[in-house]
Amino acid sequence: MSRIVFASNNPGKVREIGALLAPVGIELVPQSDYLVPAAEETGLTFVENAILKARNACEHTGLPAIADDSGLEVDALDGEPGIHSARYAGADADDADNLALLLAELATVAESERTARFHCVMVHLRDAADPTPRICHASWEGRILEQPRGEGGFGYDPVFWVPDQLCSAAELLPEVKNRISHRGRALRALLQELAER
Ligand code: IMP
Repeated sequence: MSRIVFASNNPGKVREIGALLAPVGIELVPQSDYLVPAAEETGLTFVENAILKARNACEHTGLPAIADDSGLEVDALDGEPGIHSARYAGADADDADNLALLLAELATVAESERTARFHCVMVHLRDAADPTPRICHASWEGRILEQPRGEGGFGYDPVFWVPDQLCSAAELLPEVKNRISHRGRALRALLQELAER
């Protein structure tokens, strides 16, 4: 089984991505197992930030790394929280703080205007000096609910309405979320590219 470091300490992401890699013989090791310090996410795009995170993990472990950078783009907020999704309500904000701020910002926005999508950019670097990172992007369309629903998932899942499933992302079974989500589809595209190399 080959070993790839996953450049994130977000347990929700580690769970989702690890479940997709184990069946194809890749052991995904969270960077916390190697005490990798968090990378500074100074990029202006999901692509830049994903590369910064993957390179940081390669530098500290000497192993290949996969990183994702993801976020929620809300049309009524001109694309925010976007690349700031993890820290929308402040540097120390947790999922509940971010979600509460999002609902407050959208309090007067009508249902038809609450369109949004998750983006995920998934990156693989062979080593810290890899000049040709593999980069895959996927997005997932939905709408922001007025009240949270469901207990599963993480982050903004309880307020993300998935129109073709008629439930929130937090009400989906994990395997269903992985099949249709931005992260699941970006990762499968990346695995396809790695298999073709
Ligand atoms: P990142 O670690 O900088 O990529 O942070 C992404 C942030 O976007 C997360 O902390 C969540 O707030 C949000 N996010 C990304 N993907 C999802 C998802 O699948 N469900 C809910 N929230 C997500």
